[in-house]
Amino acid sequence: MKTLTVGLGERSYPITIGSGILPALGESLRAVAFPRKVAVVTNPTVSALYGAAVLDTLREAGFHAAQISVPDGEAFKNLDTLNTLFDELIARGYDRGSGILALGGGVIGDLAGFAAAVYLRGIPFAQVPTTLLSQVDSSVGGKTGVNHRLGKNLIGAFYQPRHVHIDVNTLSTLPPREFRSGLAEVVKYGVVRDADFFAWLEREHAALLALEAPALVEAVRISCQIKADIVEIDEKEGGLRAILNYGHTLGHAAELLAGYGTLRHGEAVAMGMVAAAAIAADLGLASEPDRLRIEDLLRALDLPVRLPAFAPAVYLDALTRDKKVKEGVLQMVLNRGIGDCVLHSVAHPDRIIPPILEKYC
Ligand code: NAD
Ligand code: MG
Repeated sequence: MKTLTVGLGERSYPITIGSGILPALGESLRAVAFPRKVAVVTNPTVSALYGAAVLDTLREAGFHAAQISVPDGEAFKNLDTLNTLFDELIARGYDRGSGILALGGGVIGDLAGFAAAVYLRGIPFAQVPTTLLSQVDSSVGGKTGVNHRLGKNLIGAFYQPRHVHIDVNTLSTLPPREFRSGLAEVVKYGVVRDADFFAWLEREHAALLALEAPALVEAVRISCQIKADIVEIDEKEGGLRAILNYGHTLGHAAELLAGYGTLRHGEAVAMGMVAAAAIAADLGLASEPDRLRIEDLLRALDLPVRLPAFAPAVYLDALTRDKKVKEGVLQMVLNRGIGDCVLHSVAHPDRIIPPILEKYC
């Protein structure tokens, strides 16, 4: 079991990572003096797999815990679901001396975290993330929220949990495509911040795909550490935190153009990283061998590396609508070699992007 701390002054909190550590959840919550009365917010899919184990460990540790289940899926990460959650919390008498535990992937974490941020003006919150994406990304950093019909994550709050408890064994039940999608964000951390981690991923890709526990614990630990280091410097995305958008510029455009739900988010990010690395190579920030290493690693992890085929004008329009192109200049994070990156203003995207799309669609 490994523990790291997200250092945010009085809002600092531990992230515990291990294999088979779900039964230790109750003790971990006691160690951070989590409230005795706990609402476990989850969905039917995750509840069927881990709900009983979570209630057992909480009750054994002396917590008064009960589940509140919301429907499964991104389509339910909205204000209507939030309202039904508040209905339950109020009806069951959850008060200021209670806490909310999110049990599930990023959708549950974002929704339950936002509920905790605003219910009774804020009650303590903890997370048991059960997808790779939520373990390495959404459970670290305190962004919570829900979607609006006019856009994703438009309503939310920065709200830090008291504790994050990660059992990598939960990944064994995850659909393989969800798991691989999470690996794209893991690769991203190596590209933008840590060349040694990138090289480690090159060596360990087979162990990761085989869900070998030591490799998973290490990948999750280093990913959380990198994100925590960035969040400690820039909690509210005033600057540095933006580097986590590496691969997300063209990736997000691809996700939109393919139609939401067609590509998994991480698949789109994988494609976007290869294209970003190509732009970085064109501009002399990185080399073609760097780009090839990124592509090869993503391929080895069974991730797609070519963007969906749409005309350059369609991509440029999507980037403009996404506010990535402003006054004819494209703002994007580009890798400087491997392990470092910069936020770059790409002049003339209308000249730079078409040849990239020609090669990487
Ligand atoms: P998700 O929460 O929808 O989970 C994917 C699917 O896997 C769901 O059907 C879920 O029920 C199921 N599942 C979860 N754990 C499982 C397990 N162990 N075994 C079997 N099935 C399991 O999707 P996600 O990829 O985890 O999260 C995506 C969400 O995260 C998006 O809404 C995105 O906006 C958000 N996000 C937030 C942040 C942040 O900083 N807060 C960062 C990145 C993404
Ligand atoms: Mg992402």
